[in-house]
Amino acid sequence: MDLGITGRWALVCAASKGLGRGCAAALVREGVNVVLNARSGDVLEATAKELRALNPAVEVRIVVGDITRPEVREAALAACPQIDILVNNAGGPPPGDFRDWKREDWMAAVDANMLTPIELIKACVDSMAERGFGRVVNITSGAVKAPIDILGLSNGARSGLTGFVAGLARQPLLAGNNVTINNLLPGAFDTDRLRKTLSASSKASGQDQAEIADARLQNIPARRFGSAEEFGEVCAFLCSKQAGYLTGQNLLLDGGAYPGVF
Ligand code: NAP
Repeated sequence: MDLGITGRWALVCAASKGLGRGCAAALVREGVNVVLNARSGDVLEATAKELRALNPAVEVRIVVGDITRPEVREAALAACPQIDILVNNAGGPPPGDFRDWKREDWMAAVDANMLTPIELIKACVDSMAERGFGRVVNITSGAVKAPIDILGLSNGARSGLTGFVAGLARQPLLAGNNVTINNLLPGAFDTDRLRKTLSASSKASGQDQAEIADARLQNIPARRFGSAEEFGEVCAFLCSKQAGYLTGQNLLLDGGAYPGVF
């Protein structure tokens, strides 16, 4: 299927690795020019090189820096001639016990996983509406639908973003002008983050990492972890011309792990 977005411009945040990279790669394959962001310049440059090789017809630009910082957001926005597609992403907050978290921990989580995407949405959506096309995809987490107790910072901050987006996406100024805003909720995906979490659990419990991974797979009907590539392809569909009537939704990608009907 031709997704009808060739020649568009996308800003993909936190995109040198993992799910953000998967989204950027899928958009590049569809002929979308991209601005990629991440903090480590070397890794980001290497990713940009690989994506340019995927589709030499598109432009791939990079902006190095922490997307939670206002000056990095400004640079990322300025690097795009216009933003037709915005993919919001940043690292997830650390796990822990809420009794140990201080105000600074909460502020960091809210900043990265709620306020940063809201600032970027604010900078983009009105001009998207004027041009009659816009797609915003926020990478959140399956934990928004089925909270995980040790990920309280993530559950809280991402739920704030989810509630905000539910209202914003339904503004006629946006929905009526072909600007959609949706959240993609990853379950367990085979990325560096997942591998680090498995390794930390293995160190903490003394149990073999492969055994921990296997136990986790028993709760996933698909019996595998997702890949960043397939996550990216769903993201590209949400950004497509065809997905213009799909807005304000929370789409869970978890291999069937969430047991509810809705
Ligand atoms: P990952 O493989 O660790 O990749 C994270 C990417 O984000 C890297 O490119 C990293 O590059 C960049 N990054 C992190 N913090 C950043 C910041 N403040 N500013 C700019 N770039 C930043 O992680 P992932 O698995 O793709 O996860 C992406 C998001 O999905 C996270 O919020 C995670 O919590 C969430 N999630 C993932 C899973 C899963 O199973 N993988 C499940 C649920 C939710 P630098 O370090 O160089 O900046």
